[in-house]
Amino acid sequence: MALTSAGWLPAAAPRVPLGLVVLGSTGSIGRSTLDVVQRHPGRFTVVALTAQRDWQRLLEQVRAFRPAHAVLVNPAAAAQLAAAVQAEGLPTEVHAGAPALATVAALPEAGAVMAAIVGAAGLLPTLAAAQAGKRVLLANKEALVMSGRLLMEAVANHGATLLPIDSEHNAIFQCLPQGAPGGPAAGRESPGVRRLLLTASGGPFLRRAADTLESVTPDEACKHPQWSMGRKISVDSATLMNKGLELIEAHWLFGLAPSRIDIVVHPESIVHSLVEYVDGSVLAQLGAPDMRTPIAQALAWPERIESGVASLDLTAVARLNFEAPDEVRFPALRLARAAAEAGGTVPAMLNAANEVAVAAFLGGALNFPGIPAVIEDVLAAMPAAPATTLEQVLAADAAARRAAVAQVVARTGAARQAVEELVAC
Ligand code: NAD
Ligand code: MG
Repeated sequence: MALTSAGWLPAAAPRVPLGLVVLGSTGSIGRSTLDVVQRHPGRFTVVALTAQRDWQRLLEQVRAFRPAHAVLVNPAAAAQLAAAVQAEGLPTEVHAGAPALATVAALPEAGAVMAAIVGAAGLLPTLAAAQAGKRVLLANKEALVMSGRLLMEAVANHGATLLPIDSEHNAIFQCLPQGAPGGPAAGRESPGVRRLLLTASGGPFLRRAADTLESVTPDEACKHPQWSMGRKISVDSATLMNKGLELIEAHWLFGLAPSRIDIVVHPESIVHSLVEYVDGSVLAQLGAPDMRTPIAQALAWPERIESGVASLDLTAVARLNFEAPDEVRFPALRLARAAAEAGGTVPAMLNAANEVAVAAFLGGALNFPGIPAVIEDVLAAMPAAPATTLEQVLAADAAARRAAVAQVVARTGAARQAVEELVAC
């Protein structure tokens, strides 16, 4: 809808379609993005699609969206895709290797870049999109956690626009005064805000006794009660590290000290987050737990477009519950808050140790309580340092990964090579 002299009218599709690059198009966020895009013929042109190695799914997407470019990080998978693209006469140039991710993120035809790669692998292409002055739709929270200062500086220095996709941050973005000086996602505090409240579903083990957590399986950890997501973020939701990463993400996006960002467990996942103002007003954004809502909001911002998400039936939901998080059963939250307060390279090390520990858990080498235990040991052993250059961030990331692999080996007796292979996957 747009306000015109004739009243509220449906927003017309822009005359020039928005060129869109989807980094991580085969994943959960990538697929939801393309679902929204295909509901709006003529509004978007898909310029590039990227994935790590799933060439069959990427081929299906290339057939449907006919992008000019497709990237697969894995060279053998890229060769398979290139052969299929050529055989079918598709108009897509296939690229292999991680450096091509940053190249397509900065293409002149791209107006917007959906950053939906999981993990630290998303950092360099997301930075490249910001440095090229794009509208960056940020799902990849790990990039901000690792190097929030550098990413926010790149956005400010290159005239990029950062729109949060993570449902909590997108909710806060919608509850802040749009366009105010230092407004949403500008990395500076909006006037009149007292604190932010991030809601957390509590994950699949919200009601599970602490002494039974040792035996939970990766499939149980990935069975999220409300959201359907990739496996890494699903485990993060189960440990509550996801909320810890989101606290750091919110600190960078909205410019508030970690002490002014609170977490509240809300098992229904209907209230996506809240902003409390100094006059006592609390604004919340509500909706069904479906990532197509924040994706559509950011794709069309400042307009609104259909996302395919059903209306919220509040009488069917009936009750909304809220409770304090349990930081004893879920120590990841405490570790992340301490890392946010320490600053410098500590959040990058927290993220790296978490990525290693989660990969080891998903691969069957580490038990569930071992995830925060490994992270805590890594952080206790490694000194904090400033994170003012990319080199410092990447060095801290690499050192924390090595330390985390060593911790997994020490705790489990697994062979170092086996753990390294799990982590590299
Ligand atoms: P996913 O595992 O479903 O998909 C990840 C995508 O990244 C895939 O396309 C994969 O091919 C690609 N990828 C993986 N490793 C890569 C690498 N090393 N190099 C290049 N590409 C690589 O993950 P997801 O659930 O879609 O999450 C993506 C990001 O969005 C994560 O950072 C996650 O925290 C964030 N996020 C996801 C959700 C959600 O609902 N899924 C919600 C909020 C935030
Ligand atoms: Mg979230």
